[in-house]
Amino acid sequence: MLSPRSGVLDIQPYVAGESEIEGAGRTIKLSSNEGALGPSPRAIEAFRAAAADLHRYPDGSAAELRRALAAHHGLDADRIVCGAGSDELIGLLCQAYCSPGDEVVHSAHGFLMYAIYTRAVGATPVAASETNLTADVDAMVERVGSRTRIVFVANPNNPTGSYLPFDEIERLRTRLPTDVLLVIDSAYAEYVTRNDYGAGEALVDSASANVVMVRTFSKIHGLSALRLGWAYCPEAIADVLNRVRSPFNVNAAAQVSGLAALSDVPHIERSRTHNETWREWTAERLAAIGLTVHPSVCNFLLVDFADAGKADAFLKERGIIARRVGGYGLPRSLRITIGTEDEVSAVVGALGEFVER
Ligand code: PMP
Repeated sequence: MLSPRSGVLDIQPYVAGESEIEGAGRTIKLSSNEGALGPSPRAIEAFRAAAADLHRYPDGSAAELRRALAAHHGLDADRIVCGAGSDELIGLLCQAYCSPGDEVVHSAHGFLMYAIYTRAVGATPVAASETNLTADVDAMVERVGSRTRIVFVANPNNPTGSYLPFDEIERLRTRLPTDVLLVIDSAYAEYVTRNDYGAGEALVDSASANVVMVRTFSKIHGLSALRLGWAYCPEAIADVLNRVRSPFNVNAAAQVSGLAALSDVPHIERSRTHNETWREWTAERLAAIGLTVHPSVCNFLLVDFADAGKADAFLKERGIIARRVGGYGLPRSLRITIGTEDEVSAVVGALGEFVER
């Protein structure tokens, strides 16, 4: 009988945030942590302009985009590899560094794609317990054994919204054997405004050959639809990713739109300020009506309910889509993205009604 490699049928397919409610007119989609303000107008313009050249293959090395990323973040362009979303890069790292029987460590409520890609290559995901819904360096190190090939840490993490200060990430790196790859997934880095936070590029640069940082244009840059992410790597790992990726893995529209988005610094600043203002406002209002809201440095909040299913259904009846996170081991919580002022006001209003019933 034809069957896929072992592990593949153990995968629970990733369930994306819903975007429509049957029968509802206007829906408010707060289920996928998309940027509240949408893309920069410059990115939209670049996307439109790309239409005339659709018959051309994209630049397979995304050279201009890599140069712009390097200039923007102060990095070495030769060690940046772009991907079709950071998801693709996470998958390629598993593919390139794990064999069947190997292990990959992630934190208990860590981003789901780590376990999915691990299983896809026949390796075994190993979950390390968290402390206060936050990755725990000692627990992660304890789960590292002779079969461990990769340790993934989302910093900050989805869906908990928590983060580790840079010195904790450094401590994690120091305690890992040099033949274990540390992948720091900083998808939400642009939203973090804490002084003790670092996205990870400094660690990639500090002579350690076993650290990679992955980033995305899906969040603050508002380009989820185009699938654009990037990895900053030691030279040898960039070389590996360039060997295993498809030759044209990043489409032309994504490249030019990403380039334009990066140049619109005021839009990025506006998005960060909007998020901080309305995240704090939403968290305060929800706490004031008696809900437990976990501290978040991201563009979403994790909120606990006595019955998250009922809360979700109540919101849906009012056209609001949040995200259930039972698949992350958090059956009593909903994850709610920080949307526009109108959107978060609607959520706060609806949940006020919900708790009063
Ligand atoms: N990492 C984390 C922590 C995320 O939350 C997401 C988005 N859900 C991703 C990676 C993947 O983002 P993308 O593939 O859109 O770049």
